Order: sequence, then structure tokens, then C-alpha cells
Amino acid sequence: MRASNTTRWAKSKLFSGSGGFKGTGILANPMAERLYFDWNATAPLRPEAHAAMSAALALTGNASSVHAEGRAARAAIEDARLKVAALVGAEARNVTFTSGATEANMLALTPAIEVGGRKEPRGRLFVSAVEHPSVKSGGRFAAGSVETLPVNGDGIVDLHTLKIAVHRAAQPLVSVLLANNETGVVQPIAEIAAIVHAANGILHVDSVQAPGRIPVDIEALGADLLTLSSHKIGGPQGAGALVRRENLHIAEPLIKGGGQERSQRAGTENVAAIAGFGAAAAMAMQADTQHMAALRDRLETGLKSANSGVVIFGESVSRLPNTALFAVPGLKAETVLIALDLNGIAVSSGSACSSGKVAASHVLASMGVEPALARGAIRVSIGPTTTEAEIERFLATWRTLLGSLLKGRREIAA
Ligand code: PMP
Repeated sequence: MRASNTTRWAKSKLFSGSGGFKGTGILANPMAERLYFDWNATAPLRPEAHAAMSAALALTGNASSVHAEGRAARAAIEDARLKVAALVGAEARNVTFTSGATEANMLALTPAIEVGGRKEPRGRLFVSAVEHPSVKSGGRFAAGSVETLPVNGDGIVDLHTLKIAVHRAAQPLVSVLLANNETGVVQPIAEIAAIVHAANGILHVDSVQAPGRIPVDIEALGADLLTLSSHKIGGPQGAGALVRRENLHIAEPLIKGGGQERSQRAGTENVAAIAGFGAAAAMAMQADTQHMAALRDRLETGLKSANSGVVIFGESVSRLPNTALFAVPGLKAETVLIALDLNGIAVSSGSACSSGKVAASHVLASMGVEPALARGAIRVSIGPTTTEAEIERFLATWRTLLGSLLKGRREIAA
């Protein structure tokens, strides 16, 4: 990770090329041990997932073959399916493995969803303003059939607007994420489900960021379709799942071909990735969420005591226990991000999904955050193996860097 980041940033205008970066007086500390605080982008691979993948890679068969080798591959997949289903309180037969959450979202967001075998095409898709781009893009709906639901200043979907919107659409499909990847803000999904179902609608929930951090139960949430991603919970990248409620069927698969995955997703399964995903799912059920919440709270208290005017987004509402999104007025996210990286700390600026570019966050914009402040948003996301000592080291580095960064801010303003 360090090599590729350093290469990219070495080419950036900000980097002076002599171990620091221009105008800030900030020097790199190449001796610093890396601290990884970007779990919402990708969680480190859990050793259990690594072991399950190694075992699966040693298998030879195609899971569709009837011979012993094929049956061994099939057993590895079905074992993983049970574990992923258990993670969200679903039946294993309703779990479809995909190449990741982006594909699962694309699979889910189609007009062609059958409930109880009835063909009732979904005419309109409603997505919240704070969705991940893979949902915001509208999936397989025509652009004109997709509407965006506003959120309030805390990033929570406006339930009044939702109610009006779904009642004027025939058979709506609604997609709202359980917890936002940037702010960690948690949506009132059970309330949203009640509104959607009262309008004969279907609710898809992108719950990628939630398992192992807050409870995820498809029945308790009232979700009809649920998206999961392996690499956010300590499994490998490139695996995910769409979980369906009983009786619900995607009539128009995204990938057609063979009959794998109960004809919901064709193609020979990625056995090793699926096995790793299953192992990570089993571990995510045991995560100590209070430990993470205590560390995140300590981090935020430390940030506030540094007297920089720091703003913490979504602070007053229900959030994931592992996520802190904050900005210091006048400081640009890329400046802070590079300064931290040079000192051995990996964090993210708002959303990390878009290839190293620091674009304005649509999530913060829809919450009404001033663009200048939003450009400074830094996300720290931690995990179950994060320690108190690591949080203290982050805060010590932060206090040291803040002086130079704020000085840079004043010089630029002058
Ligand atoms: N939804 C959310 C909320 C996410 O955070 C992400 C990943 N950043 C995705 C979907 C896409 O997941 P994947 O990388 O598995 O395609």
C-alpha cells in the first residue's frame, strides 16, 4: 500500500520531493509504523478468512460437477452461504454470491422483481441522497425513472417526503443504505420499511458497512433485499452477496448463462473468495462493538480538545461505532491526508471509493454542509483489532501536525 500511495503522491503538486510537502513545513517520518484507520474502505483480511481461502485454493473441482472434487468445492460454497445467511438472519437458499456489493446493488436495482411468483414490474426507483454511487447510479432503471430522496442536516432520510413519494408511484422500489460509508450515520430502516410496504413497495437495503458494527437482521429491519460486501468485514475483495427475503426473486439476472446461484447469477463461482467471505462473516458475528465505540469516542474527545474548531459530522445521531468524519475549517482534506500518511497513518478523505481523487462529497453536500468545510472532511474508520495505544498515537501525531497545518492555513489566508 505504501509504495503505490507514495508513487501517486510523489507526483502530486503538493509534494516537494524532499521528504515533506510544499508550504506546510511538514516532514515525513519514514520510520513510523503504519496505523491503518481506513476500515470502511477495506478492512484488513482476517486470519480466519486467509486460512479458509488457502484451503479452498487447494481444491480442484468445479462446484457444478457431480464427482467428489466438484462436491468438495460445492461444500465450501454452501458452508460459506450458511455463515453469510446467519450473519443477517436469512435462509441460506436466499443468498446469492456476487463479485462484490457493487454487483449485488446492480442485481437488486431492476424493475423485474417477482414477489410470490407474481410479475409486477417496478415502475419507479427511489434512492436516498446519501447512497453509495453504485446505488445512486440507479442500477438497471432508466434515468428518468429514478428519484432521489432528500436527507436532513444529520444525513437521515426525510420520512415525510418518502411517504408522499411512494404513495404516488405504482409498485415502487426504494433503496436506502443502513449505515453511510462516509459519516457512519444509521438510517431508521424499520420505519422506512413500514412506509414502503404500506405503499406496496419493495425495500432494498445496502448494508455493506453494518455487519460486525451494528446488528443486521433482514427480518427485524424489514428489508426485502440486502446487499453485503466481503472486504468490509475482513474477507477478501471481490466477493459480496445479495440476500433476498423468502418468495422474492430477481426475474432478470444481471449476468446470464449457466444456472449457478439458483439462476440469479451465472458463472463458475469464485470458491476461494466465497470461502473467505464466509469465514469473515462468522467472525463478524463475534465483534466487540463496545470496544470500537469507546475508542472512537476517545478519538473524537481528543480531536475536540485540540482547539482547532473541528466539526464532527453526524455527531448527534445514531452512528456506526467505528466511524468518525470530521473537518477543521480552512484545512483541505488532501493536505491532512498526505501529512498523516507521511507520518505512517492511513485515513481517508470522505469517500475513498473513487480512485485516489478528492472530489466533493455528495453525502455532505446533501446534508447542507458548506462546500469549503466539506472539502476538509477526513474519515477515520477503525476495527475490532484497533487498540487504545493506536488511538493515542494518532492523537499525538495529530496534535504535532496541527500546528504546522494551521500555520499553513494562516499563511494561505494572508
Ligand atoms: N455500498 C457501500 C455503502 C460501500 O461503502 C461500498 C464500498 N465502498 C459499496 C457499496 C461497494 O462495495 P464493493 O467494493 O464490494 O463493490
